Amino acid sequence: MATVTAPRKAATPQIRQSQLFIGGQWTPARSGNTFDTINPATEEVIAAVAEADAADVELAVLAARKAFDEGPWPRMNARERGRIMMRLADLIEAEIDELAALESLDNGKPVSDARLGDIPLAIEVIRYYAGWADKIQGATIPINGNYFCYTRKEPVGVAGQIIPWNFPILMVAWKWGPALAAGCTIVMKPAEQTPLTALRLARLAQEAGVPDGVINVVPGFGPTAGAAIVKHPGIDKVAFTGSGETAQVIMRQAADQLKRLTFELGGKSPNIVFADADMDAAAAGAHVGIYLNQGQCCCAGSRLFVEDAIHGEFVERVVAESKSRRVGDPFDPATQQGPQVDKAQFDKIMGYIAVGQKEGATLAAGGGRVGDKGFFIEPTVFTNVKDEMAIAREEIFGPVLSVLKFSDMDELIRRANATNFGLAAAVWTRDISRAHEAAKRLRAGTVWVNCYDVFDAAAPFGGFKQSGFGRELGEKGLEPYLEHKTVTVSLS
Ligand code: NAP
Ligand code: MG
Repeated sequence: MATVTAPRKAATPQIRQSQLFIGGQWTPARSGNTFDTINPATEEVIAAVAEADAADVELAVLAARKAFDEGPWPRMNARERGRIMMRLADLIEAEIDELAALESLDNGKPVSDARLGDIPLAIEVIRYYAGWADKIQGATIPINGNYFCYTRKEPVGVAGQIIPWNFPILMVAWKWGPALAAGCTIVMKPAEQTPLTALRLARLAQEAGVPDGVINVVPGFGPTAGAAIVKHPGIDKVAFTGSGETAQVIMRQAADQLKRLTFELGGKSPNIVFADADMDAAAAGAHVGIYLNQGQCCCAGSRLFVEDAIHGEFVERVVAESKSRRVGDPFDPATQQGPQVDKAQFDKIMGYIAVGQKEGATLAAGGGRVGDKGFFIEPTVFTNVKDEMAIAREEIFGPVLSVLKFSDMDELIRRANATNFGLAAAVWTRDISRAHEAAKRLRAGTVWVNCYDVFDAAAPFGGFKQSGFGRELGEKGLEPYLEHKTVTVSLS
């Protein structure tokens, strides 16, 4: 049984921003509507937030369009753009405790995770892209004839950015960083579950000197505010992180205008432990791989493949560690796991736990709700999982691990790759040739060797297959925000 601490009423950070941020102004929705955002640890309402719909998105796009077509942001010295972004990063750093508390309150993640993980990486990402602002340069090209040919990299225009609830601040940084460096302007819709920190960051951006209209934040619902962003002809590009189903809707809706799209979607990532692995490190990696962020990670290592020679011993360790995981109040510094983000996610995960049992997998740890208030779920491990079971194929997006047994490399690679997803994979082994062979043969955008969930602002991240297209982070992450222009000048 996981250790339980009762969710107590958190030391509440101030809710300073709950309106829409459009053209540098805080404004209610035109409809006057609001929606409640709740604390998933207590199920209590934190704040009523202005609910944008198509009418508000219209205003936000107008503001972003004006800021792009006529405003200073794409035209200023690139180094000045970088300096403003650096100031934004500094302001986030100065408010890190308050932001961590707000993030934890709205999302349910342990405050220490937000404070030590999400927000430091968000700051890094903004600084990293600030550094790119004055390094986005074209080439001179030796074409045939008496011509001077060169390329320019120009901002793609107004970026529509639709983000999920699992890493609210981090997703803002991943989206704003490259867009701002490139000189784009932004209309962002945060997830309905977690709108508060994106609004707070908009205020910090304004304070840092980002001109009005460059960043617009319109909380609201997907089918209304989100769809309006996707369909608006004033938006040049849509960057989306979330579910594959929503990505399909967006792709269809964006088809009319051939809008530029990048998608970062889900996964069912294989985390592979060979018999020669460092057992301590691999067990810790299995734990982080599945449980980080309450299992609400697109790259969660939700299929744990264990080589048969060590299977029994290794599974025992994973089960024991799962049972000792501390679940409870996100504001308790000792807490390792908070609640799931909302009732819908809680129900979906509990549904998968029931399906796993019905399909005949062995429930080796957890499986139940923790407490009777808040969306807490026990760290859960299924053993004797078969490849064809739903819990081995579908993204559960919760603290539910499926353990599978394998006996040789060819079989392993075939099974690990037998999925429509391809976001991440990990391999644990002391054999360097085996590690590189597996890294080469696994069909995934990221392969970790003897580590898991290692992210860096400079290292591209994104999916093969139905895990998405385009890359975020690194130089690659700038590309979707740039158009390449070829200029050819006659010299005769
Ligand atoms: P989702 O529907 O894909 O939500 C992601 C974002 O897209 C939210 O801001 C959402 O708005 C918006 N959206 C929804 N429908 C839209 C539409 N028709 N047009 C434009 N935008 C739209 O994901 P979810 O419902 O929150 O979660 C469902 C599942 O998605 C999870 O269980 C998990 O498997 C997966 N997921 C993956 C990631 C990831 O990081 N890859 C993150 C979150 C969820 P609303 O706030 O109104 O929903
Ligand atoms: Mg949703």
